[in-house]
Amino acid sequence: MADRPVLLLGGTAEARSLAADLHAAGIPVVSSLAGRVRDPRLPVGPVRIGGFGGVEGLVGWLREHDVAAVVDATHPFARTMSEHAAGAAEQLGTPLLRLRRPAWQPSESDRWEQVADIGEAARAVADRTVAHLAGVDPSGMDSAGRRLRVLLTTGRQDVGVFADNADAWFLIRVVDPPTCPLPPRHQIVRSRGPYDLSGELTLLRENSIDVLVTKNSGGDLTRAKLTAAAELGVPVVMVQRPPEPALGTAVHTAAAAKEWIAHLNA
Ligand code: NAP
Repeated sequence: MADRPVLLLGGTAEARSLAADLHAAGIPVVSSLAGRVRDPRLPVGPVRIGGFGGVEGLVGWLREHDVAAVVDATHPFARTMSEHAAGAAEQLGTPLLRLRRPAWQPSESDRWEQVADIGEAARAVADRTVAHLAGVDPSGMDSAGRRLRVLLTTGRQDVGVFADNADAWFLIRVVDPPTCPLPPRHQIVRSRGPYDLSGELTLLRENSIDVLVTKNSGGDLTRAKLTAAAELGVPVVMVQRPPEPALGTAVHTAAAAKEWIAHLNA
């Protein structure tokens, strides 16, 4: 592949790390971002921003730039982009690698309610809201007459499904403010990880959080909230990852991805 570039679909810390490694090794790479975040952390090297226009648009882009391989290092919940990458790679016979951080696994002390998708998470929170107000909170504490207090860390695109929950109070942590309808009782806290344990403990304690809602993103940068929840006995509604496309090879680290690319070069 010598001078032919790798297309690196990013928006994650792993993608930035791989872009830096490839750049340092002199392997041509173009990073691609969706353009969702106003002020994104940019990887080193060439970057393009914005959608390709579906599978056909991506096929055209790969052809035009004579791309040697596609590395899908998008977030584990960016399902559409991953499917498009697999579809385009299949059409052109382009090698495809998925770089995915491993999912978080519950430990003995974790109290996770695992749900299949964000809609199911909203239903789980609605059930807990009713039980909490009635004083039969699943955690066993006396909650009669108190509103359920929810820490929502699922990202701004997924807040809308909680909008019709008028009885719980939501602390919504996001990078950029959501533009969708919001639940009537809420507070927005804008921040970007990484987060540490002492900060997460303080956030949960000071806001008297009863339940944490998160997607199973995996990785170390946002893991502290799970440790804090376990320490404080706060239950977690954990949204499981969507299925991955069947095509391509999968690795967990930027180092393994770099090795896979080096083999293509050999
Ligand atoms: P998505 O639903 O899978 O993708 C929707 C559309 O956005 C895609 O069809 C594509 O448009 C465009 N797109 C997505 N990722 C792209 C990329 N890296 N480069 C160029 N176009 C991209 O994606 P999403 O869940 O909205 O995530 C968008 C970006 O944010 C991804 O890059 C992802 O890595 C990052 N991110 C997502 C989450 C999350 O929870 N979903 C969390 C952190 C970071 P076209 O069809 O026009 O090509």
